[in-house]
Amino acid sequence: MALSVKHLLGIKYLSLEDILLILETAENFKEVINRPIKRVPSLRDITIANLFFENSTRTRLSFELAEKRLGADILNFTASASSVTKGETLVDTVNNILSMKVDMLVMRHPNPGAAIFLSNHVSANIVNAGDGTHEHPTQALLDAFTIREKLGEIKGKKIAIIGDISHSRVALSNIFCLQKLGAEVMVCGPTTLIPKHMASLGVRVTHNLREALNWCDVANVLRIQLERQDIKYFPSLREYIMLFGINKAIIDSLDHEIVILHPGPINRGVEITSDVADSSQSVILDQVENGVAIRMAVLYLLAGKVSS
Ligand code: ASP
Repeated sequence: MALSVKHLLGIKYLSLEDILLILETAENFKEVINRPIKRVPSLRDITIANLFFENSTRTRLSFELAEKRLGADILNFTASASSVTKGETLVDTVNNILSMKVDMLVMRHPNPGAAIFLSNHVSANIVNAGDGTHEHPTQALLDAFTIREKLGEIKGKKIAIIGDISHSRVALSNIFCLQKLGAEVMVCGPTTLIPKHMASLGVRVTHNLREALNWCDVANVLRIQLERQDIKYFPSLREYIMLFGINKAIIDSLDHEIVILHPGPINRGVEITSDVADSSQSVILDQVENGVAIRMAVLYLLAGKVSS
C-alpha cells in the first residue's frame, strides 16, 4: 500500500485510504517505540532537514525523535539562527539546503500556504509541520489516532473543538480529518473566534460551552493563539475563562464521561484547569506519545515516494 500523495501538505489533500494507511502504519510504529530497542533502520539512506521558521516544542522534538527512531540522517534549521535574518528568500534557503543532498523537508512556517508554495518550487518531499493558521496535518492525525485508541473507532463519534477556531491550524486539520473518518464535528467558542465560513464546512457551530460538552464524546480544547491576534477578540481573559474555560465543576456536571484532548502548549487556568488537564479523562500525554508514532508513519510512507 502507498500514499496517493508525494507530500503531506494538509489533511485536505489526503484520501480516506491515505489517512487509514497512516493510522495503521502508526500502530506498528507505536509497538516499535515501546520495545527495549526503539529503532528500525527503515530510513537509513534518507536525509531529512527540519526547517523551523516558527517556534515549536512538541512538534519539533517529535519529528526529530521519529526521524532518529527510523535511522535517518538529520539536519536542524532554526530561522532565527540562519541567513533568513540577512534577507535570503525561502526558496533560496531551501535550495541551498537541498544541494547538500537532502531528500525530505519537514517545515513549520508562520505563513499559511508556505508548504504548498515550496512544493511547487523544490523537488524534495515536504511535510507541513504547521503553516500559520492553515493546517497542522500530523497533529490531526495523532489526535485521530488517540481518539481511535481510546474509543475504538471514530465513525459516528461526536467531537467538539473548543476555543480559538479562527487562528488555529489544529482546528482546520482536525475538521478535515475527523469528517473524512466519519465523525460529527462541532466548533465552540466566542463569535469573534469562529470564522463565518465554518458552517459551510459541514460542522455544527455553538457559542455555548455546556451545549458542546453535553453533545460530544470528545472535547479537543484549543489555546487562545494570542501571537496571531492583531486585535482584541474578547473583552477580557477573565470573561473568556468564565464562558469557555473547561473546569472540573462543568466536567463533573455532565451526564456522561467525555475524553479530553489538547494539542499543547496548555495555558493552565485559561482554556483548561489543571485538575481537568491532569485527570484520567485527559489523553494529553497519550497524544504526545502517539505523535512520534504518527510522524514515523508519515515519514516512512513518504520516503517510499522519494524522487518518484
Ligand atoms: N501546538 C499547536 C500548533 O502548533 C497548537 C498551539 O500552538 O496552540 O498549532
